[in-house]
Amino acid sequence: MKRLSALVLLIILVSLPFLSLAAQFEPSHAIAYLEAKFTCGCERGGSGAMIGKYGMVTAAHNLYCQYHSQPLKYCNFYFGAKSVNSCWYRHTGKFTYRAYTRFTNGYNSADDIGYIVFDTPVGNKTGWFGWRTGSDSYLNEEYTHVQTYDYSRHLQEVFSIQYVRDSKQIYWKGWTSGAEGGPVYFWYEGMEYPEVVGVYTSHDSYGNGYGRRLTTNVVDDMRAAGAF
Ligand SMILES: [Zn+2]
Repeated sequence: MKRLSALVLLIILVSLPFLSLAAQFEPSHAIAYLEAKFTCGCERGGSGAMIGKYGMVTAAHNLYCQYHSQPLKYCNFYFGAKSVNSCWYRHTGKFTYRAYTRFTNGYNSADDIGYIVFDTPVGNKTGWFGWRTGSDSYLNEEYTHVQTYDYSRHLQEVFSIQYVRDSKQIYWKGWTSGAEGGPVYFWYEGMEYPEVVGVYTSHDSYGNGYGRRLTTNVVDDMRAAGAF
């Protein structure tokens, strides 16, 4: 009996660091409000989510002006924002980025995704989401979380059934608007970490929200750029 108690205690002690690591991940800390200004002079508020120690996914229209196709002049990141004056971690350091469209032929949501790779391991301060490049059958008719900041920098959430629109896009029913680029993710019972499957790109006047899927080529490019 004593030996069994000792074994149980040992198992608890050995698993404690893992339990506490999982418990410490706070999704809102890994989602940033983006304060972007482009070289054309336009400004934009956006959202983005860390999916690696160095890497964030966001909408392409937070990285290039969707009206003038011009790149960022600067971007400040407010992780875990609570208001315009309060956040968990503010980052203003160097980064590289890439978008899959620069809107030279106007706005299109199908390629409205991009990524940021920070020069420093920002994820050590914020934590980061898991990710998954889901197949059509995996992504269709599944409950999904969508989180994005509004322009007062309060995090808004939609929990809804999502559907596959095509090979690059998903959509869901439910109010979604504000600073686009936030994560679309699955987090079911039994999953240790939430998994990002796309980014929120746009919405229509019927109350549907649209997202760009996190496809294999995006993840491969992010890996090559050092996002993980
Ligand atoms: Zn512009």
